[in-house]
Amino acid sequence: MRDGFALRAEDTQTVPVTLKCVGEVRAGQLWEEVLRPGEAIQIMTGAPVPQGANAVVMVEYTEGPVQGDVRVLREVRIGENVAAKGSERLTGQTVLEPGKRISAFELAVLASVGKYQVTVYRAPSVSILATGDEIVDVAEQPGPAQIRNSNSFSLYRQVKKIGGLPILLKTAGDEQEELKTRIRSGLEADVLLVSGGVSMGKYDLVESVFRQLDIQVHFESISMRPGKPTVFGTWKDRWIFGLPGNPVSTFVAFELFVRPVLQALLGLQAETLPLVRGELQSEIVEKSGRTAFLPAKVTSRAGKLEVLPVKWKGSADIFAAVEANGLVIVPLEVARLQAGEAVEALVFDELDYAMEGRF
Ligand code: AMP
Ligand code: MG
Repeated sequence: MRDGFALRAEDTQTVPVTLKCVGEVRAGQLWEEVLRPGEAIQIMTGAPVPQGANAVVMVEYTEGPVQGDVRVLREVRIGENVAAKGSERLTGQTVLEPGKRISAFELAVLASVGKYQVTVYRAPSVSILATGDEIVDVAEQPGPAQIRNSNSFSLYRQVKKIGGLPILLKTAGDEQEELKTRIRSGLEADVLLVSGGVSMGKYDLVESVFRQLDIQVHFESISMRPGKPTVFGTWKDRWIFGLPGNPVSTFVAFELFVRPVLQALLGLQAETLPLVRGELQSEIVEKSGRTAFLPAKVTSRAGKLEVLPVKWKGSADIFAAVEANGLVIVPLEVARLQAGEAVEALVFDELDYAMEGRF
């Protein structure tokens, strides 16, 4: 594991000691002869230690070699600077458990054991369908009664971040036949995300179209804010979500309900977002009577977490939500939380770190 001299540790019991340098082993070379007592051999990091040697003294603790002799200035222990064969893993031992995302070190392990072809879970395809008569494409100039489609893009990024394969479908109006056609094509993917059209409005038709297409609806409302009208259904082996159209609601419903499904389809442990505890920085009054997941900024300051709810105008306010990296939870039975109270938050983005200005 070091550039130096391979030797017998026993020969360094009294130092300095002069040993006979019998040659050199470079990385990639194999020294076939057995090293004898009183001998040392110059060795480079990555080279196999010759038989007979049981330690390596770092080159920094030696002098020479001069005329075939090397002076060792420090005592070395048996095994020092030598990685024993089988000390990482033994033949037949498991090196990676299933259910793990393959990241840099996993790839390094696979490469190192020569597993250049491995069986992995197929990344789920996820169709994204925005609905609403008022929704226009981002490249279009909205008329006075129209808005641009933003949900498809936030969902695209959310799907991508977990490892799903997002597919953007053409926007559907609030019209039965058009919705049917688009939803049907969306069902070709493993997961279908429909945004909008799941509330109580006269033209919120998504759920009824789901039922007409024999999608089995498992729930159609959740006691939470935002995200109350979230619909969840299945059809064959497909997973279908009707997400409320307001952009922050869409985001929150995805993080709470779609995310774990995608994780499971990816072969990962389905988990909630990381849950942290911190100190609430400003009062929250929650009148909905539902569990609230409110956009908040979670900051780590001197090792403690601070949770600051963002000042938002409600579930359409993506401009305020830009500041958030978490969702502060207001439990069902709680109507008011004071500044200074301990609260829980789900973290969906990197924590904010307050700089203490000391380096
Ligand atoms: P809905 O769930 O269809 O009642 O929509 C709720 C609100 O979200 C309405 O103000 C919609 O205009 C808005 N909305 C719906 N879909 C989108 C979208 N794709 N992008 C941005 N806003 C949307
Ligand atoms: Mg709508």
